[in-house]
Formats: sequence, C-alpha cells, structure tokens
Amino acid sequence: MTSLPTNVGGTPQSGNPPFSKPRPLERGEGESVHRLWDYMNPCMLCPRKCKVNRIKGETGFCGIADMPVVSSVGPHFGEESVLVGSGGSGTIFFAGCNLGCMFCQNFDISHHRHGHQITIEQLAQSMLELQNYGCSNINFVTPTHVIPAIMAAIELAKKKGLRLPIVYNTGGYDSVETLKLLAGFIDIYMPDMKYSDSAVAEELSTAADYPQINCAAVKEMHRQVGDLQMKKGLATRGLLVRHLVLPNRLAGSFKIIDFLAEQISPATVINVMDQYRPCYKASSHTQLNRRPTPEEIESVRKYAIEKGLNVIS
Ligand code: SF4
Repeated sequence: MTSLPTNVGGTPQSGNPPFSKPRPLERGEGESVHRLWDYMNPCMLCPRKCKVNRIKGETGFCGIADMPVVSSVGPHFGEESVLVGSGGSGTIFFAGCNLGCMFCQNFDISHHRHGHQITIEQLAQSMLELQNYGCSNINFVTPTHVIPAIMAAIELAKKKGLRLPIVYNTGGYDSVETLKLLAGFIDIYMPDMKYSDSAVAEELSTAADYPQINCAAVKEMHRQVGDLQMKKGLATRGLLVRHLVLPNRLAGSFKIIDFLAEQISPATVINVMDQYRPCYKASSHTQLNRRPTPEEIESVRKYAIEKGLNVIS
C-alpha cells in the first residue's frame, strides 16, 4: 500500500484524535446520512452500543471520535483478484476498530490507531484521486465506526464524478439498523465471518454476540446486493465473504459454511484465507500461537466446495 496522498493531511494521531465537530453542511445531504450522524450521539452505530457522544469528541470501544483517522490511501494489489484488475483496489484504511481481536494482523492501525485525521472533503478528494489513478473500486477497510463521514464523502465524491464501485470491507460486527441506512450506497459488501462459536468470539475478540450479529449482518448485506456479479473479471456488485482459517479449528469454519450455503445462497463467493500467523497478543495463547496446518486449511476449502460455494483466493 502506498503512503497518503499529499492532500490527505492533518495532525498525526496516536491514541484518540482531537475533537473536531463537523459543520452542518459537511454532514452530507441525504436522509440516511443525517440519521447516521445522529446514531453517534449517543453512539449506537455498531453492536457495542457504547452510548458516548462522539459528536462532542467522546470515544467508546473503537477509540475514534466523529471524524475518521486514515492510516493509508492507495492502490492495493494484494486483495482478491476480482477486486484488483490492472489499477489495483483503491484502498482507504481507517484506524480504530469495533472488535478487539487478540490476533489482529493490523494492530498498529486498528488498536494503536496510527493515522491522520481527515475531513469529509479530503476523504472525497482521495476517492477521486484513486479513480484518476485507475483503481478498480474504492475499498473502505474497517469502515463500521466511521461510516457517517464515509457516506457524506461518497455523496460529495459522486457529485464530483466518482463512478467506481464502493466496497465495504468490514470485520463483520455490524448492526442491521446501521446497514439498512447504507442501502444504495454500497455496491460490494466484503464482510469477515470470523467465528461461529460465542465463547471463542468472546475470548479472542471481546464480542460474545459476534456469531449472531455477524449472521444477521451478512443476511442484510445479501438482501441489499445479492450474489457477487462480475464484469470482465472484476466484481461490480454483491457479497464477497472472507473467512480466515484459525489453528485448532477455533474459527468454527464448517458451521459458517453451512450457514452460507443454507441460509444465504449456494452461489455465495467466499475467500477461505490461509494467511493467519500469530500477531499482536496471539503468541501468548496456547491454541493461537502457530499457523494453521495445510490440512486444516484444505479441509475447510474442500468442505466449502462440497457445499457448492464459490471458493476464490
Ligand atoms: S462505533 Fe465505536 S463508539 Fe460507537 S458503538 Fe461502536 S465501538 Fe462504540
């Protein structure tokens, strides 16, 4: 990933960003966007329901106030091939996260919140620059906790000529109420499905309700955009699920595959990811302190294929 474009500036952040209240005109114009801003006071944007007043600069579990902190902006060639194309996926990576995964592969960004606070205008401008660069889409990574500003920026960028598909690349801990307000703005939903077991979700991500929240969120995402659609080898709209195989079957992979095949669609596209390695606090966990074996990964891939899912990498 490249460094921030020169137009994306602001004060370097470490920890919570300073209070920055958006002027009313910067909040966007649509009814959905306004309702999203209202969800931040008290904050009910995500299933944590911290109920802090983020408009006043307070922070909850995700550690970010009302305006986004961006860690990097640039074309990314390491995403799924259906998102990359010749110009790369136009990735905008947000600091902070509403999950507390002890094995986080991006802990500097998600937990230490390294990045720069930006305005809605700067965010919209970054999207247009990624389009001018030739990227295949705009890929918002970890957008859940800063979605009001993202939506206002999408509105603004579209007025200025943005036409690329919008990708919502999330850890999958999203509330249905918030997702409903994104209908019509998001073209491709790319949620993680991390766990099917509540006790594991609580221990590894401090989110005991992750399995049911995640399944409800994926249902809503699929309701909005359907199965993944392609044009000339690139995804244009639909649902693309990511599942990271954990060692010792901790992720509960088979139940997740059953859910997708039986309750979402047998045509679901899923990336069964094999890149887990012990990061952040994982080396101190007796079951997480190694990579999954080839057999562990292959058994999940094989099961997904047997169930009829579209397995990609
Ligand atoms: S978005 Fe952040 S502050 Fe709001 S409920 Fe979620 S974790 Fe809490």
